[in-house]
Amino acid sequence: MMTTNSRDPNQNNRQTRSIGLYIHLPFCQRKCNYCGFLSLEEHAEQIRKQYVDNLLQEIELRRDWLEEMKARLPRLCQSSVIVDSIFIGGGTPSLFEAAEIQRILDGIRASWQLDDQIEITMESNPNSLSHEKLIGYRKAGVNRLSIGIQSFDDGLLSQLGRLHDAKCGESSILMAKEAGFSNINLDFMFGLPGQRMDHWISSLQKAISLDPNHLSLYTLQIEEGTNFYRSYKSGALPLMDESLDRACYHQAIKLLNSFGYRRYEISNFAKAGQECRHNLKYWSMDDYLGFGLGASSYLQGNRWSNRRSLAEWTDSLSCRQLPIDAGTEKMDSKHDEIGIFMFTGLRKTCGVSLLEFEKRFGEGFFHVFASQRDLLEQYRNEGLIDWSESKTGNLWLTESGIDVSNQIMAEFV
Ligand code: SF4
Repeated sequence: MMTTNSRDPNQNNRQTRSIGLYIHLPFCQRKCNYCGFLSLEEHAEQIRKQYVDNLLQEIELRRDWLEEMKARLPRLCQSSVIVDSIFIGGGTPSLFEAAEIQRILDGIRASWQLDDQIEITMESNPNSLSHEKLIGYRKAGVNRLSIGIQSFDDGLLSQLGRLHDAKCGESSILMAKEAGFSNINLDFMFGLPGQRMDHWISSLQKAISLDPNHLSLYTLQIEEGTNFYRSYKSGALPLMDESLDRACYHQAIKLLNSFGYRRYEISNFAKAGQECRHNLKYWSMDDYLGFGLGASSYLQGNRWSNRRSLAEWTDSLSCRQLPIDAGTEKMDSKHDEIGIFMFTGLRKTCGVSLLEFEKRFGEGFFHVFASQRDLLEQYRNEGLIDWSESKTGNLWLTESGIDVSNQIMAEFV
């Protein structure tokens, strides 16, 4: 659901509704050993230029499409749409020059109304950042930088197939600060083969000493088609023991809490008021539009993803057609929407709002899940889930519930 924007005054009594934009830049220097994301091992200047030309085309086409769609989407027809978050992800967006990022953001500004307080995040890798690029990204409007540090242990970085070492990771953070970035996220990984608790804690301590605003901690997932998957299947990649993986997670929460980083989503920690506005849209089922290869969108119950082949994505745009993969277009049923609302909402530590649930679906949570009431009470008695007795309160997973979150979330879908 779109959120009403209270910062922007309503013009001529029109409501304003905010939306997030995701821009996918799918190029990388080399595929990391664990990577299951849609990324291609190429980034020649000509390919980047053509990609940006096509993105700008897609941005314009999508704006025209939205104007036409407004008449059919009741909550949009009387509204001005304002973009309050942009997330440039990848791939490795920092392989793009600052002038290319500027072109993309200028294209968005030419087509869409942006909120004065917009959050513009860009993902980056330490080895492709430079002082000049960072100054240019800031000038282009990027005001939140996310850096894929992953670890401060050279052995683990090399095992992951990363192209930077610990020293380069540290310098990139200092360089970003020098260039004026005051909102920085660092990504880290745990659950790595051979990683010990002391490796993990010392990486986190180093990160904390560099004072980022936000940290994202991901446990290793073995994705099909990756180098890690092949090694795992052949028995050459021993995974971290499940109990050590959980212990790493719990130690991280304790350590980060003691330095003022509050966990607000299963994998995400922020200092007060520094939560990522864009990612919160995904977990709150707010509207977002995705641009670029394979990017996904969600708009008031409608979902779709773009084509995943670069040639097909490019061909569609050359014919002035939106590059949607027709097989992914879907209108959620009420049942689907409820399942997704619960599944994504329970990732947030505050859980889901019971009032929001009733507003969205026209029925109270305990009415919809009446047949699961006994099971919910059982989970509550076991200390896995809890809820406020007030109709305007929340329902959330407890600390122990988060460890078995998939099992609990599965009850709602
Ligand atoms: S840099 Fe990121 S997107 Fe690129 S290969 Fe590595 S993990 Fe994948």
